[in-house]
Amino acid sequence: RAKAEGRATYRFYEADMSRSMEARRQLELDLREALAAEEFHLVFQPQVDSTGLKLAGFEALVRWTHALRGPVPPNDFIPIAEETGLIVPLGRWVLETACRQAVTWATSVPVAINLSPVQFKDRQLVDTVRQVLAETGLAPGRLELEITEAVLLQNDDVTMTMLHDLRALGVRIAMDDFGVGYSSLSYLRRFRFDKIKIDRSFIADLDRGTDNAAIVRAMAQLGSSLGIDTTAEGVETDEQLAIVRACGCTHIQGYLVSPPRGAMDVAALIDRLGA
Ligand code: C2E
Ligand code: MG
Ligand code: MG
Ligand code: MG
Repeated sequence: RAKAEGRATYRFYEADMSRSMEARRQLELDLREALAAEEFHLVFQPQVDSTGLKLAGFEALVRWTHALRGPVPPNDFIPIAEETGLIVPLGRWVLETACRQAVTWATSVPVAINLSPVQFKDRQLVDTVRQVLAETGLAPGRLELEITEAVLLQNDDVTMTMLHDLRALGVRIAMDDFGVGYSSLSYLRRFRFDKIKIDRSFIADLDRGTDNAAIVRAMAQLGSSLGIDTTAEGVETDEQLAIVRACGCTHIQGYLVSPPRGAMDVAALIDRLGA
């Protein structure tokens, strides 16, 4: 009976697998159409300083509203966009749209965008950034590029040269999701980042009496020793804010201050958070 059940489970699993592979293939096809169909938009989440809660910047995050499925989370479609190379045109669209938005805001704070490791495989990346800055008229110092350790994992000279060329344009470079990779510290040695963003997973456990506060404090001290900002990601509660502030994080980003908001709401946010 167990054997029969096993077979049945297996067949069920197989059917399930091909269904999910079919769904994935469909998502990939839809993703190809989505740019042309204007199904993407950006939302912006404020970053504030941890003491005065004054506006310090925005992170642009892409959103996809599929005509039939409705909203598809970035964690579902970014990996597919990366595997298919669609992240290159999508990433260019994000860059352009974020810069075009930021020049219209009544503030001098920067806008941050996320760059995928796959975009560093595109030899045009630096030229694209230079071109978009020129076309939109955004001051280079108002653009921040967030990269994860995965970018530096491709331990090659081309990537390092691109990072230095981007920096030479005058844009800021932030290390995103710091602390969850394989050798976070060694990457800090290889490139001088302008900011460290401490991964949300460390912040989420802060008020549960774990060792996370000690680790967050060490990361904030590291940033301070390097003379760069440390942003705590995913701050949701007053208690977490109090702890990250005590730990020495210079900035916070999270639902406590605001979830990511549409471009229409940004002006109101700028008024509320006083730029
Ligand atoms: P990320 O760059 O680390 O972005 C922060 C994520 O945390 C965002 O999720 C944001 O909505 C979420 N978040 C912010 N505050 C809180 C909080 O207090 N609590 C919780 N639980 N979550 C919070 P989102 O927008 O779903 O994006 C997920 C990831 O997808 C991003 O992580 C980034 O890696 C990627 N992504 C988003 N937009 C882009 C893009 O335009 N280009 C690329 N290459 N990747 C993107
Ligand atoms: Mg990010
Ligand atoms: Mg992050
Ligand atoms: Mg992330």
